[in-house]
Amino acid sequence: MAAQRCSAVRRPRSRKAGDMRHMGIARPGERLSVLCIGAHPDDIEIGAGATILGWIDRGVHLDVHWAVLSATGRRREEAHASAKSFLATAHSATIDVANFQDGFFPYQGADIKAWFEQLRRRTFPDVILCHWHNDAHQDHRQVSSLTWNTFRDHPILEYEIPKWDGDLGQPNVYFPTRAPPGALWLPAVQGLVRRGNLPEPRTPARCGMSRPRRICGGLPRPKADIAMTT
Ligand SMILES: [Zn+2]
Repeated sequence: MAAQRCSAVRRPRSRKAGDMRHMGIARPGERLSVLCIGAHPDDIEIGAGATILGWIDRGVHLDVHWAVLSATGRRREEAHASAKSFLATAHSATIDVANFQDGFFPYQGADIKAWFEQLRRRTFPDVILCHWHNDAHQDHRQVSSLTWNTFRDHPILEYEIPKWDGDLGQPNVYFPTRAPPGALWLPAVQGLVRRGNLPEPRTPARCGMSRPRRICGGLPRPKADIAMTT
């Protein structure tokens, strides 16, 4: 039997710095169902805002379920207003705000788990965005743990929240945006600052974070913005 000849080995083209492949969750024109989960009103905006707006900017038709677990009174209004602002150009948006006690999530575990089970029955996400599992804030960790516990056959991407605890991790997935760092999500974050929902120092801190994350993502040009880990 004649041996089959191998076709010519094609050498990979040389890659330039910043020429990384994108994680192809959805292409322009495709629908993508995203479940965003945050413990507090500003968490999703800070941790995953650039990724969400970047998808919309690239023409992905997002169906977003935006779930915030702890927002009462004025903060509830802020959570709704901010989510509406972020998702104004999404294909569809559902804003889901609960009223668990801020700072006490580990002690409300059974009630929060029951809420997660209800959430699973009313959502059918392609991908889930939630807190990083080693976040130093106990409410954030509880949300991350119950997200993995409840959504066992879904892709889950975790996001970081910069804060004084210094608990940033080692992300292994990055979502670059087309815009310069901060350009997409900064207006929305500044909107939160104006409403008094976000301490002012966090805004420059969030801008500054994009610089080391560009190095981690091999993007020397001001191109990448947000970092996530799985
Ligand atoms: Zn939070």
